[in-house]
Amino acid sequence: MKNKFIFGLTLIIISLLIIAIFQRQYRDTARLEEQTVSVWKEYESLQLMAEMENNIARENDHDSSLTSTEDLPDYTQLFPNLYTEKNLTYTTDENKKIAYLSFDDGPSKNTAKVLEVLKDKDVKATFFIVGSAITEEGEGYLKQMVEEGHTIGIHTYSHLCNEIYCSIERYLDDFNMVYQQIYDITGMKVNIYRFPWGSSNGYSKGIKDSLTEEMDRRGFSYYDWTASADDSIGKPSAYSIRHNIEKDLDRDDHPIILMHDSVINGLTAKTLPDIIDMIREKGYSFDTLDHREPYHFPW
Ligand SMILES: [Zn+2]
Repeated sequence: MKNKFIFGLTLIIISLLIIAIFQRQYRDTARLEEQTVSVWKEYESLQLMAEMENNIARENDHDSSLTSTEDLPDYTQLFPNLYTEKNLTYTTDENKKIAYLSFDDGPSKNTAKVLEVLKDKDVKATFFIVGSAITEEGEGYLKQMVEEGHTIGIHTYSHLCNEIYCSIERYLDDFNMVYQQIYDITGMKVNIYRFPWGSSNGYSKGIKDSLTEEMDRRGFSYYDWTASADDSIGKPSAYSIRHNIEKDLDRDDHPIILMHDSVINGLTAKTLPDIIDMIREKGYSFDTLDHREPYHFPW
């Protein structure tokens, strides 16, 4: 009986010991599992961080490649001297009526007459120059313009639509010639220009946006007009020149008036005193375009 009791007790003790050992082992396994899970979690979060860092690095690479010169079009590398200082100061008084006379397609013998009238009437104007029209005499007119306080802008070298508007490279090539020419004659770095036939013309349609962006990048601002004398179209008369300006003058408080001073525009120079008087009588004063905010055709 006693032996049976001892045997039974031993069995219970052994069982308890086995249970205790198993429980301990289970606890150890669970702890190990927990540890493994946390190590995995840590690994995963490290991986995630690494991936995020890689993405950021890739994005930064992408951003910097956008601004690197490699991605800019080839024409941006052409004519490294064709850059100007964009130092226009717009002084237009919003409460004042100011007219901006502008003459395209010169210089010619008519430029001399225009300059004489402007001096006589004490008016400052803007001249958009054609490089191929500059003769020795013309060089003198350009110097006179600077001396007498007028502003010189660039129109074109050739004024041939199939020369200048077939590509951005060709436009820049043409522009660069007249830009350097004017610099050599006057020492001035021109910073305003006007497109032949205006900015919205059928010839330049395909390249206009990229071209104006490129010209802006190089520091140049362009000006269209709000009133045209139509003095280079058809058979103008003194009446038609004056009337065309007058009918569109008040479209803007700061009208930009397009006229021409090429060799065929003798009538414009002759009518100019009358035009200036008419504009003055309507309450306008005069200034040069570099003092006015650029105006672009809205179409
Ligand atoms: Zn023109």
